[in-house]
Amino acid sequence: MAQYQDHMLILKSRPYREADLLLTLFGIKSGKIGAVAKGARRPKSRLAGIYPLSYAVCQIYHGRSNLDTLTAVDLVDGFPSLQKDLDKLSWAMFLADFVDEMFQERDANPAVVPWLIAAWERLGVAPGSLSIALTASWHLLKLAGYTPKWDTCEICHKPPVPPTVVVDWENDVLYCHEHSPASHRENNHYGHFGMEISFGTLRTWQQWMTLDVSKIGNYDAKGLIAEQLFALFGRYVESHIGRMPRSLQFVREVENMVEKERNKPL
Ligand SMILES: [Zn+2]
Repeated sequence: MAQYQDHMLILKSRPYREADLLLTLFGIKSGKIGAVAKGARRPKSRLAGIYPLSYAVCQIYHGRSNLDTLTAVDLVDGFPSLQKDLDKLSWAMFLADFVDEMFQERDANPAVVPWLIAAWERLGVAPGSLSIALTASWHLLKLAGYTPKWDTCEICHKPPVPPTVVVDWENDVLYCHEHSPASHRENNHYGHFGMEISFGTLRTWQQWMTLDVSKIGNYDAKGLIAEQLFALFGRYVESHIGRMPRSLQFVREVENMVEKERNKPL
């Protein structure tokens, strides 16, 4: 039983009991935790300012229950620019959801925090939401222990060359154009385990993986490359986590809606 302080991301929040909030937090020291903010839904509560997609210094009481209690909060950044754009907001919410799904409770992984902060900051101010969010997502996957070896061909061990490569998301390996398992080929999809992508798509993914957290969003993917990277990420997550996060489907719907709006004749 102890009181502690941690710098924490507020991932999610939902009403709880009469006037409380149930929060999902991710702290630098404590990892993911569930905490109750007692009375936070009363307008005069000193916890009233707490909301998801923000970063705060939290005072937490850890008692006998698995659910901690938030006793005080001091907001560091509320990322207000995210609220202005549905596309940015849905990506930011997806990232919060993704961290919640990928990491176990009380399993400290401090590097997660700067990636999420950088992504939320950058999403708020820069174009290219998909590239920012997917770069962060792949780095979060890496922090959770998933690192596909998509650098040399599984058969000839050479770095692949244009025009296309086949990535096998199930076994985390790659085939060059010459050694792609063509017998499995069907509409550019290789049975259950692989997908043909352009060499440019692979290069963009590789560049994303070399980026330092401060450079997030530096390689912006557009058009076919963006489409393939989105599909690849979904397949990879589905295959390794067992299902496609619902919030990712939501992002896709928002992207399609925004796209339609953009293409509307004036
Ligand atoms: Zn090869």
